[in-house]
Amino acid sequence: MNLHSQKNVSAKSVVAVTMLALGIATPAMLSSVGCQSVPMTNRKQLLVTSVEKENEMGLSAYQEVLKSEPLTKNEKATEMVRRVGQRIADAADRPDFKWEFNVIESETQNAFCLPGGKVAIYTGILPVCQNEAGLAVVMSHEVAHAIARHGGERMTYQTAQNAGKTLGSYVMQNQDAKKQEMVLTAYGVASEYGVILPYSRKHELEADHIGVLLMAKAGYDPSEAPTFWERFSGSKQGAAPMEWMSTHPADATRAAALRELMPQAMNDYEGASVKYGLGDPVP
Ligand SMILES: [Zn+2]
Repeated sequence: MNLHSQKNVSAKSVVAVTMLALGIATPAMLSSVGCQSVPMTNRKQLLVTSVEKENEMGLSAYQEVLKSEPLTKNEKATEMVRRVGQRIADAADRPDFKWEFNVIESETQNAFCLPGGKVAIYTGILPVCQNEAGLAVVMSHEVAHAIARHGGERMTYQTAQNAGKTLGSYVMQNQDAKKQEMVLTAYGVASEYGVILPYSRKHELEADHIGVLLMAKAGYDPSEAPTFWERFSGSKQGAAPMEWMSTHPADATRAAALRELMPQAMNDYEGASVKYGLGDPVP
């Protein structure tokens, strides 16, 4: 369904009604439904949720995950994730986000950032990262999905697709649980919370784009990004693919797109080196 089409007024109305019923949107917000721009890429996107509401849903879903997943006892890993995460958070410049970084003990090669800056890294991905710059690739990519509000877009589409058949059951059910499940699904969190919706190629490439610029601004060598993806695609797990592997763009497409951004990223990186000190990025 193409919600960006001007002609598709009825789909917009169905989404609007469902968002109201779910308590995700308010009438005031719906009056301003329309196109917004993604930071750094300026792509136009249609969203019927507000940033505030998404952040609130992100927080509640994050608390749910932390209740049911064991945090790692590896203090060094946790310190590293928080150190790298904080620098990426500074580069993301989102004063409305209340950043939090936790490391979940799990063999799954996964990571996510929920709206509002709620980040989790699974220990299974750390060996593939190899160093702080590798970790910065993963974290900046996930943060990019959140600041670009890809989950909000997915919730918008998902609601539109499901509106007719499930509106009644949504209203009848526990709405908080439903909203948590919705945001977790939309941001590619583990399957026990529902079906993993694969990100589209468009969202993946956009998260790469924003991510490589964020990591550069955070003082991590952006040339690590294509290298990391090559390494990662060589270490694919059969059972539990990372969210971005499920419909990941072809490695060559991904690498070519990243290479195209490298002059801009290197420029940002040089600026950041002054702030963070030369030689600091890669341990
Ligand atoms: Zn992704």
